[in-house]
Amino acid sequence: MKVPALASCITISQERWLKVNRSACWMILAMLLSSCAAPALGPFHVGTMYGAAVSYGFHPGIDINTAVGSPIIAAADGIVVAERKGSAEGEEVYILHGEHFKSLYAHLTKVLVRKDQLVKRGQLIGLSGATQSVKRLHFEHLHFALCKISQGHCSLRSDTFDPNLFWLGGQPQCFDPGKDYSAYAPIDLTLPVACGEYAKSKLEK
Ligand SMILES: [Zn+2]
Repeated sequence: MKVPALASCITISQERWLKVNRSACWMILAMLLSSCAAPALGPFHVGTMYGAAVSYGFHPGIDINTAVGSPIIAAADGIVVAERKGSAEGEEVYILHGEHFKSLYAHLTKVLVRKDQLVKRGQLIGLSGATQSVKRLHFEHLHFALCKISQGHCSLRSDTFDPNLFWLGGQPQCFDPGKDYSAYAPIDLTLPVACGEYAKSKLEK
């Protein structure tokens, strides 16, 4: 986009703008909106990125846009260290991967695992889309966060990392039930939302 075009669009009088530059301004607005569109994360869009400014400060995870009731799956092998049910913001699951990291899956409508349960990568752990979070942010999503444990604790305010740094193979990819993941590290993540046929198979059960 040429900056002079934008400057002429927004600096001249409203009267002239309406008569002369309306189409140019619409074009610029359309370009701006398309450049601001949600980034893709595999087959999903991201409503709020890690580190974005939000009403309570710093967004400590990524919001993956999903329809209410989408199957949420473990992003890697681990053990369920906590699950919280009945909150106004939806239910939550925490999974410990190895010794130092745990993943958080928030705003669920349903939790399908229990504390101390071992889970495998791709295992169904809940369903997404709690209505309170949808009302607040106007889109249905999974809040997915990664927290590093230090001295036995893990603060969702100060110990989080961008999950985009931990995708298996460096790119967000769907869990593939036909693939052998046994050679990967405990913190090599696949997407926490089931995709395609695998998602359908999880919902049919
Ligand atoms: Zn969020």
